[in-house]
Amino acid sequence: MTTYLAVSAVRIQSWLIRTPKLRLMRGASAALSAETSTSTVTRFLASQGWSGTVTVVDDAGDVDGVVALTVAPQVSPDVVAHRLLRELSSGLPGVDWEAWWTDARSYTEAYGKFQDDAVIRLVRPAAPLEATLARTCPECRAEPAAAGGGLGADCAAREAAATARERTGTQRDTAAPRGNDACPPPGRPPRDFDELARIGGLPAVSSAVGRRESSNHLATVVADGNRVGDIFSQLRDLKNDTVNGMAVDALSTATRTAVCRALTLIAPSSAVQAGIVHFVGGDDVFVSVPAREAWRFAAYLGREFDHEMRGALREIAEEAKLGEESRSTLERLPTPSLGIGLVFADSRHPIADTHALATAALKQAKRATRGLTGAVVWADLTTEPHPPRDRVARLTDLLEDLDPDGSRGAEATARLDVMRMPPSARTSLASVLASAWGPNGEGAVTAAALAAQWARRTGRTLVPGLESKDPAVAAEAATLTRDLLSRARWWPVPQTGGPET
Ligand SMILES: [Zn+2]
Repeated sequence: MTTYLAVSAVRIQSWLIRTPKLRLMRGASAALSAETSTSTVTRFLASQGWSGTVTVVDDAGDVDGVVALTVAPQVSPDVVAHRLLRELSSGLPGVDWEAWWTDARSYTEAYGKFQDDAVIRLVRPAAPLEATLARTCPECRAEPAAAGGGLGADCAAREAAATARERTGTQRDTAAPRGNDACPPPGRPPRDFDELARIGGLPAVSSAVGRRESSNHLATVVADGNRVGDIFSQLRDLKNDTVNGMAVDALSTATRTAVCRALTLIAPSSAVQAGIVHFVGGDDVFVSVPAREAWRFAAYLGREFDHEMRGALREIAEEAKLGEESRSTLERLPTPSLGIGLVFADSRHPIADTHALATAALKQAKRATRGLTGAVVWADLTTEPHPPRDRVARLTDLLEDLDPDGSRGAEATARLDVMRMPPSARTSLASVLASAWGPNGEGAVTAAALAAQWARRTGRTLVPGLESKDPAVAAEAATLTRDLLSRARWWPVPQTGGPET
């Protein structure tokens, strides 16, 4: 038995967005990565006289925000945890840290126990901001200012890391290369949110930016793997450490690869990258993209994640030389997929707000499909304060709708017909639907009947089901129509790849 100890940053995304300034968000990612890197931690362990007794676990992978160690019997894990937490908190005081340790035969087994809560845990939340303080940090307002009113300690650490990042030219966003052929995506990282909205992802040769409105809107994208806990607990039941180690690694590699590949696919020849990657860790994703690229990005992200994960699981089965029984367990695993939340807003809209809404949308997507398939829930803040409660689009539908030369089924054709109506027709249909809908989603059946009437009057074809005698079918068709009208606003036009607004 070996004692395994891990320290990790929790609620990383909320900490990142404490300041709306992109430079300090990037500095935060860089600082978190540096503070928890193997080399920094090894130096700290040496400074405590623990070289040779407390060591960094290799097969945990170098994940930003996570430190995994083994602790020899003569050293108290409790002492290691306390000192390491103190060290990390002094470096980045705004982060909430958590430590846990347990005895196990391998890191994988320890990690499994962590999931099952059979571990000793220690938490160190960021210092609360006391109300009596005279001054708060001018940047984040979430920590005390330095003497004289300057940046607080957390923002100062972000600032220092941002400067170091610029000086060394490591324009590495968190979805960094790490031997990944899809990374980095073509072009240089955008300087700021405005530049991302204006020219991010557009072909380098073109200075045309389309219509004005489309060039100052962004989408905040957050994503998270469906049933990942389920997949991992079934893998642990195989009691094969090689398989488990490979799977943990495969998950974060698949996520990074999917992000990079989606960015490359939507902008293969851009001078400025089509996205700002705020955070990628494990199966969590937080990215900003231009609104005009958001649908393609979200759909490709989901598709590539699924593809990468399936490939990785196949490879694992081969490399680990599993027996017949274990192989069939692997084959029966739930299909890996992503829940995705998408929020469209003006590029000046506070990122903390769009991130919170996107996170809620992501949860709605996972709930709506019970995690069984990839799906997107979105909100367009230019027309609505949050997504309607019953909104969801399945990834397979989105991919079919986006495929420029796919042979579409009747349903996809009907969806595209709705999205491709001229803006005036869409506006008129949207107001017909809205006139029947109540604030809590009631009236969908009436809305369906009104939409069908409108279609007859204007000679247009809408989605099937609006005239169904079954109220559930009619309501569903009305909901789909409402959502297609919303989707149409930022849906890419095939010929130009630009938006239709
Ligand atoms: Zn601050």
